[in-house]
Amino acid sequence: METTKLLPSELKIFNFAKKEVSLFGEYLISSLPRISEIAINKEDRVKVDLSFYLENDKTPCVKGIIELNIVLECQRCLEALQKHLKVNFNLAFVRNEQQAEELDSQYEIYVIKEDELATIDLITDEILLSLPMAPSHNYECNLNKDKQEIVEEKRENPFTILKNIKIADVGKE
Ligand SMILES: [Zn+2]
Repeated sequence: METTKLLPSELKIFNFAKKEVSLFGEYLISSLPRISEIAINKEDRVKVDLSFYLENDKTPCVKGIIELNIVLECQRCLEALQKHLKVNFNLAFVRNEQQAEELDSQYEIYVIKEDELATIDLITDEILLSLPMAPSHNYECNLNKDKQEIVEEKRENPFTILKNIKIADVGKE
């Protein structure tokens, strides 16, 4: 019996959630343009598992794991900085923020305008959210001032698409 299918390039959010579809995919870092811009190891792979479901019979959600090794440039010494990322997430897709307020705070909120979403956009957003904005070694690596001028790098803020809306915690101070 087939349980896990390969990821298509577009996710049909509501349809997948209703059918409780589970999908698996492997991507080269080079096929994710916004990750490829910052990763040195562009030929390495990204593994993705997504399981869709409906919350309260109406809100499409996805539980997922994204796993990869990424090599970034350390922002202090400009040497390679290797990280293993295992990103676990639980997203609820909503049309507006009001709909988000009805949900449990365990969900990250992803506001969508249409029912289809490019798969690589979802993957890219989740990876970017889990990376530090200015990655550096966790030891005192040398600061090279000569090279520092070319380090300036404009990164698109992933929060423009993916919003993590804080919902007041009930019963906590
Ligand atoms: Zn460093």
